[in-house]
Amino acid sequence: MARNPRYDILFEPVRIGPVTARNRFYAVPHAAGMTNTMPHMRAAFRGTKAEGGWGVVCTGYVSIDPTSDDAPLPYATLWDDDDIRSHALMTQAVHDQGALAGIELWHGGGSVMNRLSRTPPMSPSGTAWMATHVNFMGNQRPRVMDQADIRQLLKWQADAARRARSAGFDIVYVYAGMGYLPYEFLLPEWNMRTDAYGGSLANRARIVRELLEVTHEAVQGKCAVALRISLEELRARPSEAAASEAHELVGLMADLPDLWDVKLDSSPTDCAPSRFAPEGSHEPVIDFVKTLTKRPVVGVGRFTSPDTMVGQIKRGVLDLIGAARPSIADPFLPNKIDEGREQDIRECIGCNICISSWHDSVPVRCTQNPTIGEEWRRGWHPERIAPAASGASVLVVGSGPAGLECALSLGRRGYEVNVAEAADEIGGRLRFETRLPGLGAWGRVLDWRRGQLEKLGNVNIYRGNRLSADDILELGNTHVVIATGSRWARLLYSPLEVPTGRIEGPGIYTPDDIAEGAQPEGPVAVYDFDNYYMGSVLAEHLARRGLEVRYVTPAGHASAWTIMSNEQPQTHRMLSAHGIALHTLTRVTDFKAGELTLANQFTNAESRYPCRSLVIVGARFGNDFLHGALTARPEDLKDAGIVSVTRIGDAAAPGAIVHAVYSGHRYARELDADPASLGHRRDAPLARRTAARAELETEA
Ligand code: ADP
Ligand code: SF4
Repeated sequence: MARNPRYDILFEPVRIGPVTARNRFYAVPHAAGMTNTMPHMRAAFRGTKAEGGWGVVCTGYVSIDPTSDDAPLPYATLWDDDDIRSHALMTQAVHDQGALAGIELWHGGGSVMNRLSRTPPMSPSGTAWMATHVNFMGNQRPRVMDQADIRQLLKWQADAARRARSAGFDIVYVYAGMGYLPYEFLLPEWNMRTDAYGGSLANRARIVRELLEVTHEAVQGKCAVALRISLEELRARPSEAAASEAHELVGLMADLPDLWDVKLDSSPTDCAPSRFAPEGSHEPVIDFVKTLTKRPVVGVGRFTSPDTMVGQIKRGVLDLIGAARPSIADPFLPNKIDEGREQDIRECIGCNICISSWHDSVPVRCTQNPTIGEEWRRGWHPERIAPAASGASVLVVGSGPAGLECALSLGRRGYEVNVAEAADEIGGRLRFETRLPGLGAWGRVLDWRRGQLEKLGNVNIYRGNRLSADDILELGNTHVVIATGSRWARLLYSPLEVPTGRIEGPGIYTPDDIAEGAQPEGPVAVYDFDNYYMGSVLAEHLARRGLEVRYVTPAGHASAWTIMSNEQPQTHRMLSAHGIALHTLTRVTDFKAGELTLANQFTNAESRYPCRSLVIVGARFGNDFLHGALTARPEDLKDAGIVSVTRIGDAAAPGAIVHAVYSGHRYARELDADPASLGHRRDAPLARRTAARAELETEA
């Protein structure tokens, strides 16, 4: 199909200093959990984005010196010439696909703990970051930078920029954002210096200016020099010289960088979950930048709609459409727009599982795109899949995220697929969950798969069909996939975090009961030790129904795990806005006769509250009854011609939607595959090329 002419503007080339991007699609720097120990995975992951049409593809954060060490979080390094080869794999993969490669050079200043290098961190005035995320906490406070440190910083940046050039990068960054070192100079609360680097904004910004100058000098006109800067705090500060300190700063440095990459200041606002922020949420902070510079401007906003992108360009907000998450959810987003296939875009749902991967120090994962991070190690391509290796038919029982992804991927391979769904509508858990407050955008998991399945003639979906083991034997497909989901349990736990058994009785519910139409009466308590979104979302749902709600958790925070997905700060704000009473470090120990008994997790001190309903959001168990019933009848299976019965998704092991999608996809990839091809390749750092090794290679 031809591209819609309305979107032609997105495919105009953009000049960035000495280089030219082939279009306006810019995959911005973002952490992807791949360090220099995974150079092949990293190269293939970024090369795939370039193949999908992004005009520029950037690295994540790359440390310029061991004084900036974020271990155990996964950061890249460009500390010495040995690191060049690792990055060169990526630039080559990106160049092979006709895109430009950008590198985000980074110094963490007072925000890192230097656990690996054991060098004291440094910041402009010794001020530390007040981390609220345990991953970022530590006991090491930074030392004050002296003049020699400042000279060193400029040298490290220049050396790293020269190495970046040698590695083949086209765009080299100065990074003054997100609490990292140059950003620390910009804010007077971090920077209390009385020398030329403190005081007025011009002085506080001096280090950024000098970093830009040394970078320009180091790359000698061969690479563009980009400035990535966080403007949220600065925009909130009055200035005597301009509309805000952000305006003053951009005015001061207007045309010094070849590119402005503008963003917000902290991960939960910069990379806000869709539960709490819409597409384009950065605009009120960064909308002015283009009025003050002649250089191109790139920014992000979880853009997936080409019309919104065109709007950003035409309204003069951005020149380049930046994307981290949308480029993860669909590395082929630009090509799909180019080919008039925008309805095929696998839109990011804003769940931030990708970000949680970085916090977990593992390669990037995505709810929508199970192939991300698996390009090299499993050889999975987001748009291509091997054709069927046999004429087998597959029965998929259940149409939640696991069943749908499995059916779609098997269908694409060319298998005959039959999907049986007990309910009248497909979608599994998504049928209920996407109707809960803030989770509407998660419906894209279902919508995209439904749309893609409709294009396949070899996948039949039978709604309103609850299958028994006998039904399955009668249908006699070659392979049977059990994707029947899971059930929440009414389990309680002891202070030692071990189960104490089930609690039954009137007024006790699980999320399944509410999904099936139960209407708890108030006052209601939501007891959450699942720690993800379900507890707080249900609390909001019940409060919106006008009930008096109490939220109880043995963890230290509401939805404690969601610190990983950037949801936690807004979750606490939401609970407060709805007047929901919050009990942290607290267990439910009993519920009966209209009374709820709570105990402090550590002291066991008890408290009692009038309460008519209790919703327990904790343990889950897979619905694997069918699997058990079928595998207990091997002879019947044989007679029915059924070769395999496999559990996938929540039926196998209850998890988040990301786990279900991945599980369904993996089954489809691996059906009929050569057993030798299963598992995954192990990446390894490129070994240092010592003289002894060179000799060996020559001999060989
Ligand atoms: P997952 O997250 O693993 O995809 P879900 O709970 O979202 O699991 O979806 C499971 C789906 O399976 C639900 O839509 C449910 O109605 C369906 N289901 C459960 N048991 C049967 C059955 N015996 N026959 C057909 N469909 C079933
Ligand atoms: Fe978007 Fe979620 Fe995928 Fe991240 S994990 S790219 S937020 S869909």
